[in-house]
Amino acid sequence: MRTDRRNFDILVLGAGLAGLRAAWAALEENPGARVAVAAVSDAPSGSSFANIHDRLGMQVCFTDNDAADLAAEVLAVGRPGHVDPILAEVLAADSLARFEDMRSLGVPFLRGQDGNLALFSGCFSPHSRRAVVFEDLGAAFRAFRGKIADLGGVFLSGLTARGIIVADGAARGALFACGEQETPLAIAAGAVVLALGGPAPLFAWSQAGPRNPGWSYALLARAGVRMVNQGYLQYMWGQVPSRRFWPLAQHAGQGLRVRDRDGSFVPLPADLAGLATARGTHCPFGFGLHDAALDRFLLAHRQADGTVEAATDAEGPLRIAPMAHAGNGGALVDAHGRTSLPGLYACGECASGMHGANRIGGAMVLATQVFGARAGRHAAACLKKNPETSDTSFTELRISDAATDPKARQEVERKLALFLQRSVAMQKTPALRDVLRATGRLCEAAGDWQAKLALEAGLTVMNHVASLN
Ligand SMILES: Cc1cc2nc3c(=O)[nH]c(=O)nc-3n(C[C@H](O)[C@H](O)[C@H](O)COP(=O)(O)OP(=O)(O)OC[C@H]3O[C@@H](n4cnc5c(N)ncnc54)[C@H](O)[C@@H]3O)c2cc1C
Repeated sequence: MRTDRRNFDILVLGAGLAGLRAAWAALEENPGARVAVAAVSDAPSGSSFANIHDRLGMQVCFTDNDAADLAAEVLAVGRPGHVDPILAEVLAADSLARFEDMRSLGVPFLRGQDGNLALFSGCFSPHSRRAVVFEDLGAAFRAFRGKIADLGGVFLSGLTARGIIVADGAARGALFACGEQETPLAIAAGAVVLALGGPAPLFAWSQAGPRNPGWSYALLARAGVRMVNQGYLQYMWGQVPSRRFWPLAQHAGQGLRVRDRDGSFVPLPADLAGLATARGTHCPFGFGLHDAALDRFLLAHRQADGTVEAATDAEGPLRIAPMAHAGNGGALVDAHGRTSLPGLYACGECASGMHGANRIGGAMVLATQVFGARAGRHAAACLKKNPETSDTSFTELRISDAATDPKARQEVERKLALFLQRSVAMQKTPALRDVLRATGRLCEAAGDWQAKLALEAGLTVMNHVASLN
């Protein structure tokens, strides 16, 4: 086992919006802190900086009324998931300051024809006008990275996190695979901020950005961290193969029909077409909402590869699939981004409690900024108080390093992707039980460590779906 000679004070895992915001805050709070950001790649990665839309919306509360409204809406749409009123309030209260921070970096927010900031409604919040939108995610990535470099942060690229090092009941660093090198690399740190994104990349059909293996839930579970809402993933209908958003509500009124098991096309039942207006207020499926009947109708006509053959008067025949978009679950954090494991913080798409079953559009980007900043700041402030916690060493690490050939691993990952795709229904079904058993068997048999992490992450999603009423 090779242990990096340097100790870091704060080790941030992941270079998405959440990880970079955490590093920035840590360096500002404690300018002398040794802060490193470790990520798979030097290039823009994940859903923050490399997603297929190349634009992101973010909720911002410009007034106290806005903040009260957002916090109330977060709670209302989040139930019956686990959503914490304190985190909802914090999310709303910090939004304006975090938006101003992004503006100070030069992140290009859209303006209307009058030159003023353009404001939009968000999914599940059709009457609000609080969301701002920025484009050119590559430019945003460079702006965040530049800020961290200016503050003295270190980037460690080409590292794939494969474990949290826990010693004496606290997070003490992380274990990495680096490229083709067989020996894992261990890096020590006084505090670890996990910002590895969500599980959407594990699905056969996903809109998640590249260079994220989707293991965050497995790493958290192995570290024994308390998690919530893992089964509440957002899914959107997307066209195959482009994966681009396909607005179901719009097409429901245009003679939508789907291929049935007997090969014929069946029309959307009239009572379901009537749900199109409600469905038009949100792009993702709505957990527990009446209009989810529309999504269920399509899901019931899925083929083995997870796609649905559909046709509309306007578009003719086409193929669509429920695309895993972003997870609402992850480590349950407090208002400072702390998880249940001392020394381990989580933020962004792998943290939860500020979202529940459904999430207001633009609230995830906001969460990356609010809780990323809070996690980084708190970790850095703790180090100021207890500098000795950064002198970390660990003497013994036991890891199973079995690896199979890449083809075998890809085959397991392909199976998992299809199993997960079948569990999309957002409800308990007999099929889900079968899929869970099959995934469990694959996981027991898997020798390869990467396949095992993917399977464990997938199982945390499926098990949570199976536990829902
Ligand atoms: C197409 C699309 C559009 C979206 N639009 C919106 C929107 O408009 N508004 C909104 O609020 N939300 C939106 N979302 C959701 C939101 O963009 C993401 O949830 C959010 O950006 C996630 O940020 P993050 O920093 O937590 O994770 P990511 O941006 O996914 O970053 C994860 C980072 O961790 C790295 N990583 C992962 N695993 C490892 C590992 N094992 N080792 C090392 N590094 C690793 C990745 O390479 C990456 O750098 C959208 C999502 C998608 C897919």
